[in-house]
Amino acid sequence: EADFEMLETAAEGPEAIRYLPTLPVVAIVGRPNVGKSALVNRIIGRREAVVEDTPGVTRDRVSYRAEWNGRHFTLVDTGGWEPDAKGIDASVAAQAEVAMDLADAVMFVVDANVGATSTDEHVVRLLRKVKKPVYLVANKVDDVRQEPNIADLWSLGLGEPRPVSALHGRGVADLLDLVLDKLPEVSAVAKREVGGPRRVAIVGRPNVGKSSLLNKAAGEERVVVNDIAGTTRDPVDEQVEIAGKVWRFVDTAGIRRRVHMQQGADFYASLRTSAALEKAEVGVVVIDVSEPISEQDVRIVDLVLQSGRALVLAFNKWDLLDDERRWFLEREIEQDLGHVSWAPRVNISAQTGRHLEKLVPALELALESWDTRIATGKFNAFLAELVAEHPHPLRGGKQPRVLFGTQASSRPPTFVLFTTGFLDPGYRRFIQRRLREIYGFEGSPIVVNMRVRE
Ligand code: GDP
Repeated sequence: EADFEMLETAAEGPEAIRYLPTLPVVAIVGRPNVGKSALVNRIIGRREAVVEDTPGVTRDRVSYRAEWNGRHFTLVDTGGWEPDAKGIDASVAAQAEVAMDLADAVMFVVDANVGATSTDEHVVRLLRKVKKPVYLVANKVDDVRQEPNIADLWSLGLGEPRPVSALHGRGVADLLDLVLDKLPEVSAVAKREVGGPRRVAIVGRPNVGKSSLLNKAAGEERVVVNDIAGTTRDPVDEQVEIAGKVWRFVDTAGIRRRVHMQQGADFYASLRTSAALEKAEVGVVVIDVSEPISEQDVRIVDLVLQSGRALVLAFNKWDLLDDERRWFLEREIEQDLGHVSWAPRVNISAQTGRHLEKLVPALELALESWDTRIATGKFNAFLAELVAEHPHPLRGGKQPRVLFGTQASSRPPTFVLFTTGFLDPGYRRFIQRRLREIYGFEGSPIVVNMRVRE
C-alpha cells in the first residue's frame, strides 16, 4: 500500500465518488454578507482564497463532502445566489425552505456586528417550525472582547448564539462538536430500511412534466399512506406503488410547491435538484420532447452524474411528437446526451399515463447496476485479458503496466487500478468502455481510479 501514490483520476465523473448515499446533511442558511462561504471554506478546509459573499454572485457548487473528527457529512451551502436588496427576503426564505426539507441540521448564520435584522427575524419564524436541530451562528466574532455583543441574539428565540470567526477559525471547532454530537450517523431523511422502498428523485427543468408524472403515478396507482412499521418517513417524500412495487419519491414538496421568484429561480431549482439527489439513489431526468433539448437539460443530467447516483432518462410528452420533431430529437439525443448513452430511456406521456409502467424496469436496471460488485478475481481476469489484447501504448520507450485491480466500492461501482505508471486518459476510457461492454452497468456511472507505483 505504501508503495502506491493515490491519484484522483477518473475519465468519467471525477466527482462521482464524493458522495455516499446516506451521509447526514448540514445546511447553511443566512443573509448575504454574513460570511456563509467563509464558513463553508473553513469547515471543508478549502485552501483556496476565501470567497467573500458578493451580491449577485452565483456559485456553482452547493454540496460539499466534509469531515470532522473522522465523521463524514454533506455540507450544503444554500446561499450560492446573492440577490439584490429587494430580493433578499425571498431568497433567504427559499434557502430556509430547502434547508428545512432536506437537511438533518441547519446552521443559521448572522453577522454579530450587525445584529439581527428584519430579514433574520423573518427567517427565524420559518426555522422555528422545524423539528430538526437549528444552530444560531454569530459570525465575525474575531475577538473575545466582541462576545458580549452577541447577547442580544438570544431574543431571536433560537437558543444560545454560538460565536465564531469563520475567517480566523475561532469557535468553529466547538460549533462542529456541537452539531456533530446531535447529527445522526446516517441521514434520517435519506434512511432506507433493509428491504424498504428505494429512493427516487424526479428532476428536470420547469414545465417538463415532473408534477404531472408524480400525480399520474400517485393518482392512478396507489399512494402508500401507511408507513412500514417502525420507520419514519419524511413528510416531503411520497411512497407510491407502481406496477406492484413501492418507490419512495424524495423531495416531492419541491415538485409540488411552486416557488415564484423573480430572481434566482434557476439557482434555487438547481439547489433543490442537488439536495434531492443527495437523498436519492437514482435520478429520473424528465425531458420535454416537444422542445429542443436545452443546455439546462444537459446541466441537470450532469448534476446526476456528479452526485454519483444512478440515472434514468424519461422522455415526456411523447404524445406531442410528430415525425419531423422525432427526427430532430434523435439527433439531439446523440449530440447532447451521447455521454450518457448507457442510461435507460423511457418514452412516456405523463398526461395520458402512456408507458408509465416502463419506468419500473428502467429504475430496477439502473439500481441493479449501481449496486453491482464484481469479485476481485473476476475483475482481474477481465483486466488480464484486456491488457493481453490491448497493451497500453508505448510512451517514451516506457510502457505503464496495470498490475492488478479491485472494486473499491459500489453505488456507484468504483474501481482502483494499481499501475506502474500514469495511464493515458484514452486508455482509461478504453477500460471503462470495456467494462460497460462486458458488464453493462446500464444506468450507473462508473469510476476508475489509479494508484501509481512510482
Ligand atoms: P413540472 O414543472 O416539471 O412539474 O411540469 P408540469 O407537470 O407542471 O407540466 C407542465 C405542463 O406540461 C402542464 O401544462 C402539463 O399539463 C403539461 N404536460 C405534462 N406532461 C405532459 C404530457 O405527457 N403530454 C402533454 N401534452 N402535456 C404534458
